[in-house]
This record gives sequence, C-alpha cells and structure tokens, in this order.
Amino acid sequence: MTAMPHIALNDAACALAARELAVFPLHYPVQRGRMLACSCGRANCASPAKHPFSRLVPHGLKDATTDPKQIAAWWGSNPYLNIAPLEINSTITSALRKTS
Ligand SMILES: [Zn+2]
Repeated sequence: MTAMPHIALNDAACALAARELAVFPLHYPVQRGRMLACSCGRANCASPAKHPFSRLVPHGLKDATTDPKQIAAWWGSNPYLNIAPLEINSTITSALRKTS
C-alpha cells in the first residue's frame, strides 16, 4: 500500500499553473516489497516515475495546461501523480530535458 502524499500535489500543480507554468501528470513511484518501482508496472521501465501518465495525457507534454479545472480533474483522479512543469513558451524545463 502506498501512503498518501505528504503534500497536496494538486495544490502544487495549481501553484505552478498560476505562475504560467503549464503542467502535465507523470507516473509516480510505488512500493514493491522493499523496492520502489514505477507506477506504469513495467519491470524494466527506462524512466521510472518520470514519463507521462499516458492514460490521462495521450499526447504527453503537448497536453500540458494551466487550466485549474483540468489540473483538478487529473490530480483528483489520482493524488499520487508526479508533476511535470512546462514553460508556457513550450520550452521544456531543464528537469524534463534530463529525463527524456
Ligand atoms: Zn514507468
């Protein structure tokens, strides 16, 4: 069982969006025995907890938004989703460049 996040990731995503940083949801770490694994379930995931949650964002970073209603829908459906911020001018942040 995964513990609830210590911070409300929905609130964090909304705070980024309020600063004109579009966001989209990523997979997240899950406990598997004594190890952490990616929520995608692939044992050999190449980018654990750092790739788009494609069920919600089929177009990946192209689905990034600053719309609070969409953000509430995404993180309301799953409070564990990681957050990927995207600069509003569509330049991928340095954090995302490292994970691609
Ligand atoms: Zn994965």
